[in-house]
Amino acid sequence: MQHERVSENVYWFQSEVYAQVTAGAVTGTQWAVVIDTLAMPEETLQMRQYIEEVLGMPVRYVINTHYHADHTWGNCFFPGATVLSHSLCRKLMQEKAIPALEVTKQSNQSFSKSKIVLPQLTFSQGTMTLKVGKKNLILMPTPGHSVDGISVLIEEDRVLFAGDAFMPLPYIVDGDIDLMGDVIKQIGKMGLENIVQGHGDIVLRGEIEGAVKENLAYLANIRKAVKSASKKRNPEEVLSLVDIESCGKSRVYLGGLGEDLHRRNLKSLYMKFLREGTSVFTSDDPDDKHIADASPEISLDIPEDDDSEDFSDDNVVGFDDEPFDEPTED
Ligand SMILES: [Zn+2]
Repeated sequence: MQHERVSENVYWFQSEVYAQVTAGAVTGTQWAVVIDTLAMPEETLQMRQYIEEVLGMPVRYVINTHYHADHTWGNCFFPGATVLSHSLCRKLMQEKAIPALEVTKQSNQSFSKSKIVLPQLTFSQGTMTLKVGKKNLILMPTPGHSVDGISVLIEEDRVLFAGDAFMPLPYIVDGDIDLMGDVIKQIGKMGLENIVQGHGDIVLRGEIEGAVKENLAYLANIRKAVKSASKKRNPEEVLSLVDIESCGKSRVYLGGLGEDLHRRNLKSLYMKFLREGTSVFTSDDPDDKHIADASPEISLDIPEDDDSEDFSDDNVVGFDDEPFDEPTED
């Protein structure tokens, strides 16, 4: 686990084991608030140890940015803390996380002591403000990656803990591509010092505009790729050749999962097209059209009988609350 001080009394933690998932802590005078937990129990426990022993504070609140396993399954390691989230997060954890953890426990010893702790304090409209020392933490809905997504703005510092609403690669499989784009734009207009992404590194002030543009271009590009592929005789095969670089993303590390997440984005958008038809490709927003027009044309001209591999079920875990597999370690 890596850790860093973001601003006064604000800390960031990043997993070295699973998908560069991140968490945060904000300290007041007597107690601390944790924003998300890390994916693996041992890393969540290391984070708690750092907050309690180095920062010298007990954790009174845990905020969950969304229900996915890699952000919430560590709630149980903060006994006595009150867990806060969107009301849909509580609902989804109840429905999905409890059975998913049972499945995971059968194959993964690391989770033998884990249990699902549901949020006790939730909100479903507007925002919620939590005062921590001199700082206001404003919890606000940012759906798109998942329907229950919230971000936490440290108002005085203009630091946003965005959860997976902002990632090095937007991930829409459990969410909605249109909402995702809206939220990314909204975040870009907030006048932030830092965006703490749910995975990957902190985005600094000078990097925000570029990151927003790149993420919006990526969404426009995958739309375009699925649109072109849907006109071919063998769309899935065509899509399997659309790599992450051709959609304008490179250097996406995410613990080696970048390409897998990209494949799953394409697959899910294609499935959405099969369900909903061509409306998937049109957006009312003139900005989107502008971005799509400016982005490089994706070439999908491959032989129709190309023997490329089909979409396969892969091992990406956590991101849409499938049970965890053992993460690969170096
Ligand atoms: Zn995540």
